[in-house]
Amino acid sequence: MRIGNLDGRLVIVTGAGAVDVESASGGRFEPDPQAVYDRWAEFAAWAPGAGDVPGQPFEQARLGGPAPAPRQSFGVGLNYRDHAQESGFTVPDQPSIFTKFPSCITGPRTDVVLPPGGHTDWEVELVAVIGTAARNIAAADGWSHVAGLTVGQDISERITQLSGQAPQFSLGKSFPGFGPTGPWLVTADELADPDDLELGCSVNGDQMQKARTSYLIISVPELIARLSAVVTLLPGDVIFTGTPAGVGMGRDPQRWLAPGDEVVSYVEGIGELRQRFVAG
Ligand code: ZN
Repeated sequence: MRIGNLDGRLVIVTGAGAVDVESASGGRFEPDPQAVYDRWAEFAAWAPGAGDVPGQPFEQARLGGPAPAPRQSFGVGLNYRDHAQESGFTVPDQPSIFTKFPSCITGPRTDVVLPPGGHTDWEVELVAVIGTAARNIAAADGWSHVAGLTVGQDISERITQLSGQAPQFSLGKSFPGFGPTGPWLVTADELADPDDLELGCSVNGDQMQKARTSYLIISVPELIARLSAVVTLLPGDVIFTGTPAGVGMGRDPQRWLAPGDEVVSYVEGIGELRQRFVAG
């Protein structure tokens, strides 16, 4: 199943287009895309029966993020070996967790304002959305708490991120529009192997990142276990799971995003994001 956020309304995405959930369910489910995660098991049981309704075609520019207002939004630093090395760190055995403050979460096709004087960089990532609350969950049960997967860009302004004695990851990654997600949420059963998906991104058509999620140091279910050992994961929370090598900071010479640049990010079996960067 694929669900999306079309003009702020929850839809099921079919081969033909979008099916409005409030209409198709006769009002049983409300239109707010974020609210569905609080009733995820009930929705997932109902939704397959809605597939008989033909979907309406739509433009992807009308989509917002599939979990547009999470109560908690996590990022994972240095979760691919090659990216840890290009960043000058040893490969960690403990994931480095930060937050992308939820106000930065947006949809799949956006313009992003570059912070003046900053060094703004790209990080394509697989994003997991929580379907049922998780506390002290074993990794073996981790996937059962995930509603589905989407594509994310963990856009990062490196000067802010790395300033101070203890770096400011959360601030440097939370400027307005720095958390594009989408184009929709795909449930794991739609993917041949949800633990092994190609992901990548390009800048102005030049491929910058290309890897597979099977290279994650801490896999999605293991992240659920490690995070839920400390915090309660809530329905609709999003987890940006980390980026592979190929970011601008790790290149020689380093490369930062400039006005007019377009970043296209994808995850196999899910879809793509398109961000155009504009002067601040
Ligand atoms: Zn990241």
